[in-house]
Amino acid sequence: MVKVVLKSGKDQSARRLHPWVFSGAIKKFYGEPYEGCLIEVFDNKDEFLGIGHYQVGSIAVRILSFEKTEIDQDFWNRKISNAWNYRKNIGIIDNDKTNVFRLIHAEGDELPGLIVDFYNGTAVVQMHSVGMYKNRDQIINAIRDVAGDKIVAVYDKSSTTLPFKADLNATDGYIFGESNINEVSENGLKFKIDWKKGQKTGFFVDQRENRQLVREISAGKKVLNVFGYTGGFSVYAMAGGAELVHTVDSSARAVELADENIALNFSDTKRHKSFAVDAFDFIENMKDDYDVVILDPPAFAKHNNVLHNALQGYKKLNLKAMQKMKPGSILVTFSCSQVVSKEEFRKSVFAAATQCGKTVRIMKQLTQPSDHPVNIFHPESEYLKGLVLYLA
Ligand code: SAH
Repeated sequence: MVKVVLKSGKDQSARRLHPWVFSGAIKKFYGEPYEGCLIEVFDNKDEFLGIGHYQVGSIAVRILSFEKTEIDQDFWNRKISNAWNYRKNIGIIDNDKTNVFRLIHAEGDELPGLIVDFYNGTAVVQMHSVGMYKNRDQIINAIRDVAGDKIVAVYDKSSTTLPFKADLNATDGYIFGESNINEVSENGLKFKIDWKKGQKTGFFVDQRENRQLVREISAGKKVLNVFGYTGGFSVYAMAGGAELVHTVDSSARAVELADENIALNFSDTKRHKSFAVDAFDFIENMKDDYDVVILDPPAFAKHNNVLHNALQGYKKLNLKAMQKMKPGSILVTFSCSQVVSKEEFRKSVFAAATQCGKTVRIMKQLTQPSDHPVNIFHPESEYLKGLVLYLA
């Protein structure tokens, strides 16, 4: 097996069980590493640190195990049944009201590079590393093994998440079974999921609890859901008794899906209206009559080198919204950029509050739900950050 030896002093991160080895920490290789191969990691005194997948790039190794072990079918069975049992224990599997959840959350489940979402019987898999892709068959065997007849189909949607330089020519499609049961239930509300053409795996599963919070604050309110995608927050606001709900998304297809999801749940759809327009333009031209505004933009930064621009982006967006909001209104604002920390996001929102001269109270701080667990040794897995702000 290919081996990599780290430079002196560069073993600390792996010793603290952080699963990423950066290329700058590498002293030398034994054997020829290639994209996606298994590789053993050693410190410069030849002490074993871990075994993982190699990748050409800044994150050179994603560690799968800090103990010496074979990465065989048994390994995948163990890891994936851990992920399954965890979700069973927290009550998200076999839940009366919810049959959509994240089954595998990459580093959060000690499986860096692997995301699996469960949609009422269909597992949608996204692999972000070539190593995971090469182990695809074993991973699928393990999912089927642990889930039994709870999983009727597995859809691989990795064509856009795999590093394109790897030239794998991956195509999306079913790799087990096939299912057209695309209606799911989340907290008792219904959603149509388009995992083939939708964004990410088809649905933003990570906002489940935050949507529930919006439901609780929406009674009698006028709610604006910006970057609404399939209308998740809008459906919950309607369920919470909002007087009016507006959904804004620049994608015409997203807005169509939002309308469908509203119609799926409510007969009085007149309370809802959607707008397929740019969020910044909409906010620029809106009046100040919303009581609750939700801002859930796509990740403004995917890499550290654009962090500054991303922080400016969050400031600008939140400032624009705050300027248009009336006293006593509530802003629910998010960042899902992994490279933006909770503190940095909060500072951007503070900068916006200062500039617009409004008093802002933090009512609540939000994050991702427990089916998106955070690996304590990998703080980056805490990627979703939200603030509920009361404007005076
Ligand atoms: N809140 C959603 C997820 C939002 S994902 C949920 O709970 O499911 C981000 C969305 O922002 C995408 O649907 C994308 O189409 C939309 N988007 C991206 N840029 C935009 C822009 N400039 N104006 C409006 N919508 C935009």
